Amino acid sequence: MNVNQHTPLAAPYGQPQPGYVQPGYAPLDGGYPTSYMPYHGPAPAYQHGAPQQGRNECVYFHSSVFRPAASQPYNSGAATLPGHQPSYPQHYGHPSTMQQVTNQMTGMQINSGPPTAAGPGYAPPYSSQPPVSSAYSAAPPPSYTQAPPPAVSSGSVQMAPPSVPPASQQQYYGGPPPQPLPPSSYSSPMPPPSQAPPPLVSQPQQPFPPPQPAYSSAPPPPDSQAAFTSGPPPGAQVSFPPRAPPPSSLAGSFPPPGPPPSSAPSSQYPGSISPHQRPLPSHPSPYHSGPPPPRAQMPPTSMAQSNHLPPGPQGQQQPPLQPGMSAGYPAQQNGAFGQVRGPQPGYAGPYPGQPNYGAPAPAAPAQKRLDPDAIPSPIQVIEDDKAKVNEPFTTGVRGQAPPLVTTSFQVKDQGNASPRFVRCTAYNMPCTSDMAKQSQVPLAAVIKPLATLPPDEAPPYLVDHGESGPIRCNRCKAYMCPYMQFIEGGRRFQCAFCSCVTEVPPHYFQHLDHTGKRVDCYERPELSLGSYEFLATVDYCKNNKLPQPPAFIFLIDVSYNAVKSGLVSIVCQELKILLDNLPRENPEADSVVRVGFVTYNKVLHFYNVKASLAQPQMLVVSDVADMFVPLLDGFLVNVAESRLVIESLLDQIPEMFADTRETETVFGPVIQAGLEALKAADCAGKLFVFHTSLPIAEAPGKLKNREDKKLVGTDKEKSLFQPQVSFYNTLAKECVAQGCCVDLFLFPNQYVDIATLGVVPVSTGGSVYKYTYFQAQSDQERFLNDLRRDVQKPVGFDAVMRVRTSTGIRATDFYGSFFMSNTTDVELAGLDCDKAVTVEFKHDDKLSEETGALMQCAVLYTTCSGQRRLRVHNMAVNCCSQLADLYRNCETDTIINFLSKYALRGILNNHTKAVRDTLINQCAQILACYRKNCASPSSAGQLILPECMKLLPVYLNCVLKSDVLLPGADISLDDRAYLRQLISCMDVSDTHVFFYPRLLPLMKLEGDSLPVAVRASEERLSKGGVYLMETGLHLFLWVGASVQQELLLNIFGTPSFSQIDSAMTNLPVLDNPFSKRLRELIDSFRAQRSRYMKLMVVKQEDRAELVFKHFLVEDKSSSGGASYVDFLCHMHKEIRQLLS
Ligand SMILES: [Zn+2]
Repeated sequence: MNVNQHTPLAAPYGQPQPGYVQPGYAPLDGGYPTSYMPYHGPAPAYQHGAPQQGRNECVYFHSSVFRPAASQPYNSGAATLPGHQPSYPQHYGHPSTMQQVTNQMTGMQINSGPPTAAGPGYAPPYSSQPPVSSAYSAAPPPSYTQAPPPAVSSGSVQMAPPSVPPASQQQYYGGPPPQPLPPSSYSSPMPPPSQAPPPLVSQPQQPFPPPQPAYSSAPPPPDSQAAFTSGPPPGAQVSFPPRAPPPSSLAGSFPPPGPPPSSAPSSQYPGSISPHQRPLPSHPSPYHSGPPPPRAQMPPTSMAQSNHLPPGPQGQQQPPLQPGMSAGYPAQQNGAFGQVRGPQPGYAGPYPGQPNYGAPAPAAPAQKRLDPDAIPSPIQVIEDDKAKVNEPFTTGVRGQAPPLVTTSFQVKDQGNASPRFVRCTAYNMPCTSDMAKQSQVPLAAVIKPLATLPPDEAPPYLVDHGESGPIRCNRCKAYMCPYMQFIEGGRRFQCAFCSCVTEVPPHYFQHLDHTGKRVDCYERPELSLGSYEFLATVDYCKNNKLPQPPAFIFLIDVSYNAVKSGLVSIVCQELKILLDNLPRENPEADSVVRVGFVTYNKVLHFYNVKASLAQPQMLVVSDVADMFVPLLDGFLVNVAESRLVIESLLDQIPEMFADTRETETVFGPVIQAGLEALKAADCAGKLFVFHTSLPIAEAPGKLKNREDKKLVGTDKEKSLFQPQVSFYNTLAKECVAQGCCVDLFLFPNQYVDIATLGVVPVSTGGSVYKYTYFQAQSDQERFLNDLRRDVQKPVGFDAVMRVRTSTGIRATDFYGSFFMSNTTDVELAGLDCDKAVTVEFKHDDKLSEETGALMQCAVLYTTCSGQRRLRVHNMAVNCCSQLADLYRNCETDTIINFLSKYALRGILNNHTKAVRDTLINQCAQILACYRKNCASPSSAGQLILPECMKLLPVYLNCVLKSDVLLPGADISLDDRAYLRQLISCMDVSDTHVFFYPRLLPLMKLEGDSLPVAVRASEERLSKGGVYLMETGLHLFLWVGASVQQELLLNIFGTPSFSQIDSAMTNLPVLDNPFSKRLRELIDSFRAQRSRYMKLMVVKQEDRAELVFKHFLVEDKSSSGGASYVDFLCHMHKEIRQLLS
């Protein structure tokens, strides 16, 4: 494969150059620039600022190898799907129109567009490049000066409290609720059963499963074309044999007609119809507990009658799967596009179904339903993408979409930020806002500014420009980056964002080569790389003062529940070890992070752990209404100096409260105490709060139990996600101002109102962890792993993030865990390596295809050693005047990340149902726009999906049926609030696995490679097998009832299914290769996620299986969520309505 390799923005970056190395860290002087000056709007037309090399929209067109056919596995054999009924969720389905859908869907085709960037132009394999981090020598810990003590400092509790500013800021979660979209056309919540049409039927060879009563009366759909083809690019849409070409122009043409007008790839798109074995339907579901067998007959489709009846026993053409073999991912049939093995639905006749359209179908012997194997498979897409990647992804080509988050790949920074830092929904943005509105494709980037890179990728270089600080545009204040254009022999540069011309400071001057590039271009990260850091000067510091190193304060609930559950002693024991692992930049040096300790129930106990003391001293503050810190000297200490006193304290705390009878707690004053301590020490920091119960004790921030499940589904439901009192919003604002980040570890036995308690953590860039019904024995491991990671992970403090864009677009909305006091600056008291911020862009002018669209994300933060830095991520994307180009360069995983955050913000102010409808409507518009403008003319009965978005329906359905948007009977209000907050700062990889869990068959574990996942559906499970499921929060090991003895022996060390202890949270350590490999696998899964996933062993047909099944997201869920098949049919109906 040779895709035109465009000149990268920068040559591979070599050894650190002199300019990179931080030449010591000296106090600097200077005026205080408005580092975050407001953007003054578009500048005069900018002619030549953008990189010339980036124009490569044609990159895909030149590709001679396309993305492998996203083969929709096609089951040529007849099959019943025992246990699977087309279930029509009550919240979908418009009675009167479902009929049409059915009719149309029988002829549904899914056309995938052309492949997206097929790994074009990869640079030579990565050459070992010394990690440049070595160039950085950690700044010596600034000598710490104890902040001056306040007027009252000893144990006195009379000290005047800081006055709490009036509550005003309510904007913690960011922007406005979702714009109400035109009401979704299917808003009728529950179709009268009698009117509902039959499910969209398209796979004739599959006897239709029992129709729901709702659909029984519908006439059979006339169309019978069952083929799902991947849609060719607009203009290039070509049918290939399995799919009957539309009569209009392409009839019978195969190979496909010549190149499309739009210059899209002209090759036929290897359709999705590769005939694949699909054994599952042919034999009884391995799963006993599946849905009941068909009870009624559906009218057959015409296709069923013609050539789509099962040719015989299934599996004649393909060997039946062995139990445990994955049925979800059929082998790719390279080069077999035209070949048909066995009867193919949909291409036996000319455009099947069309003539019949609208007419009742003839009666057929069996019922049909959409074959799950014939619709786009997430596993197939994931595996296809993996297969494409064999070289590092280089970021030098503008507009090139990176491999999927599920693909393992290496990144070489050649001028744009690595996808580990920035992922975009679209790498080719529409030039005009009209186009953008028409398509409804969200334009957004998911930015994870401090993401941890794999060991073989160098962390961002640190650039020190000395006293004068980073070089910036005079007007928009954008930082020096590869997009800036040097002119006048190098004496000035023109800003790529606002076009303003700025003088180059003498110390930064360099000559230009004959192409206009600075000759030192490749020696300077800021001229050649997408991501780098600048050392900030005092001008970038609060009060023009270099920051103190941050502090960590541990605040431990010692009420009855906390003591009794063992929590207090576990925390204290663990802290003794953790104190040696506080974050540091230089692994050789001690951490400069100081620590402090507080315990509390209704009152607070502060501890003096000054090194000179023989024993720690406790100071009690019982006047929680006016919180203050009763001591300054000795509260925040250096671990190395005070180690003995601290250890003594941690040993004593569990004993001191062992007999407590106090059950009530406060919460607001606890955070206030930590905040006041940081204020007094004049530093930023993090509070680790270990809390058990609803704070009902008399104190600021006191809460009442407002849990009322009856509100779910009503107009008042949204209030459950809003904080109960405004106290915490005000407190959060104060915390942000101080750089006080709050991490909350909750151990509730009942409702604790996470929607309210989470306000401060969420607004300060912190995290909420929850361990319901915490029991030391079963939950300790998860909690301690979370705590260890949370304490040790890289984190920046007192951060401000600003996203600048080139003329024509601007960042309009932000989603994540942060605070905003204006419309542009994202303020994060703490920003750790796991937190992502999703940024939405809107047009404010026309974009140019030539210059593309640029964005620069700059994050100013304080490192854990107290150094002030700026991290800069640059990203350039293409711009297009043809919608087709947009649809060719989208990333569905990122779109889903955006849409889920958009929706979860929406439920704060809107009815959940309205939010769901808005999402469905938007996606229908996205797909309808493609259909209307990009796909070649074809039957309205065909569902044509763009290649890059063919998983949009399945993933969207997963979002819609998630517990936050579609609560089931078993999810508590706290859980919903918790998940909502959790998702708000997830990156694309997190949301992907959260909404579409990874399900791995474990029957064979060979070598280092992972087994290929199967689709998240019950019918993919073999009762003879064992499966591992990962959701990012949970890890399940599902064991089939007829599992082979050998597997049991290998995994559990017992030959008997009944002897498996489903309470185990870790597998026994057995001395066999299978056990070893499986445990490694589990460890590696855990290592990849920011939260420790506790293992749950689920035996088939055990009660716990219900929990597991909840995550089989392609199936109908017990809470009423639609199955994938049903939802796809529903989407098709929505699209058709928009088109008509
Ligand atoms: Zn500028």
